[in-house]
Amino acid sequence: MAATSLPSSSVTPRSATPELVPHWIGGQAVSTGGARLTIVNPASGATLRELALGGVEEVSAAVASARSAWRGWAETPPLRRARVLANFLTLLNEQRDTLAALITSEHGKVFSDAQGEVSRGIEIIEFACGIPQLLKGAFTDQVSTGIDNWTLRQPLGVVAGITPFNFPCMVPCWMFPLAIACGNTFVLKPSERDPSASILMARLLEQAGLPAGVFNVVQGDKTAVDALLDHPEVRAVSFVGSTPVAHYIAQRAAAAGKRAQALGGAKNHMVVMPDADLEQAADALIGSAYGSAGERCMAVSVAVLVGNTADTLIPKLAERARRLRIGDGMRQDAEMGPIVSKAALERIRGYIDDGVASGAKLVVDGRRHPVSGAPFTVAGLEQGFWLGATLFDHVTPQMRIYREEIFGPVLACVRVPDFAAAVELVNAHTLANGVACYTRDGNIAREFGRRIEVGMVGINVPIPVPMAWHGFGGWKKSLFGDMHAYGEEGVRFYTRQKSIMQRWPESTPKGAEFTMPTTK
Ligand code: NAD
Repeated sequence: MAATSLPSSSVTPRSATPELVPHWIGGQAVSTGGARLTIVNPASGATLRELALGGVEEVSAAVASARSAWRGWAETPPLRRARVLANFLTLLNEQRDTLAALITSEHGKVFSDAQGEVSRGIEIIEFACGIPQLLKGAFTDQVSTGIDNWTLRQPLGVVAGITPFNFPCMVPCWMFPLAIACGNTFVLKPSERDPSASILMARLLEQAGLPAGVFNVVQGDKTAVDALLDHPEVRAVSFVGSTPVAHYIAQRAAAAGKRAQALGGAKNHMVVMPDADLEQAADALIGSAYGSAGERCMAVSVAVLVGNTADTLIPKLAERARRLRIGDGMRQDAEMGPIVSKAALERIRGYIDDGVASGAKLVVDGRRHPVSGAPFTVAGLEQGFWLGATLFDHVTPQMRIYREEIFGPVLACVRVPDFAAAVELVNAHTLANGVACYTRDGNIAREFGRRIEVGMVGINVPIPVPMAWHGFGGWKKSLFGDMHAYGEEGVRFYTRQKSIMQRWPESTPKGAEFTMPTTK
């Protein structure tokens, strides 16, 4: 149910002269001229701040600052780098709620969800604090008489991260803590829609004792991204965002000889078997489809209902979707906040129109109030970007609402006859980020895990975001590049291996050798 009685007092009020969100270059906030973007609170539509959009000049300054800080930082023992991160961890834990409130004000997600996002970011920093162990090389004594061989991993230099709007703290934390723990210096280009978290984190890193220039932020859009992709000093690019942009980033970075990991969009399926606990499955679908207004890369957007489950499950889903509490994310009782922007709201509404036109059955229409039938809004916040939970049944694989990522609170239900058809359906989709299966049958669960062609799998877990030490990544068009984000793959991405072979010969010269060295 829409929280129509919400007061607007918890929404940040409109300010006369909006504060400017700066860049962070060389250890300080930098504001430059040029284009400005208005940052609005999606719950109220009110102006919060202005953003300075950076371009080639700001990127050049940030990369130069990162380049000059790099040698000293790379030479800093990993244990000392870890101690700086441990200080940052303490500060971030102290500031968790401030950061979460900032995220809610610019993104719209409910406060408890924003707290959860910060906590998941913190876990990556905890992992990165173990960098001395993670960078330990491998050593072989006496590969030949008097010769040892070992491998070590060294940092790349200046690396960049380009991040999406939906996790303004957590996704940057997938990148920079490990990158700098490995001895790189970093330039972050956050989403232009919710940029303030990046600057708060930059200030906390400085307080933690991070030398100036190790972490930099350039605010901006495609212009700043292209400048990073083209800059010869940027050695590697981590990207998280939509699939078309991920593909573009991976191609352009590769053409410039850079290492790239580009995580793209998603269409996550949840298969519900007839033997599953349908109450649990209904709760899992509602939370994962409508949590954060469906604006999560691991949100479930397709329910694959096997056998006769649909007839029991759809009424349960409809009833729960209609009574979802929607309102300003700072309200304690809100379960779902607004859509991030007016453009996104219009895009999602367009998909709902398309679903209806293509013959899917609209069971719950989020464009209208579930009781009055009036256009959906939240009382007192009519300028916000509101949409209710939307539920479609009888969706088919040919429909656009099935094929494309909607990235909003829209759940599409597809009916299939059996387990084999469910697996075939999931495996035929081009996006393969996350997937889940609800069942009480161990053999089905095991077969599902083995046969499904998706990067992250949940068995009775709707949003299986891997823990910090396991790494995050989809398959197919959900990830371009070889390495998953964070975990040990993250360490590999931000370092390159070197092999050193050494011999300390006795002083008697033996003369030059012209054959391939072999073990003697
Ligand atoms: P987006 O692709 O529009 O933007 C992501 C970043 O790329 C932003 O920093 C933006 O400024 C920049 N950008 C946008 N258009 C660009 C262009 N044409 N050229 C160069 N740079 C460009 O994504 P978004 O709307 O911010 O985020 C939502 C998307 O991110 C969804 O598709 C979601 O599935 C995806 N996502 C994926 C994961 C994952 O792990 N696979 C995680 C979070 C979000």
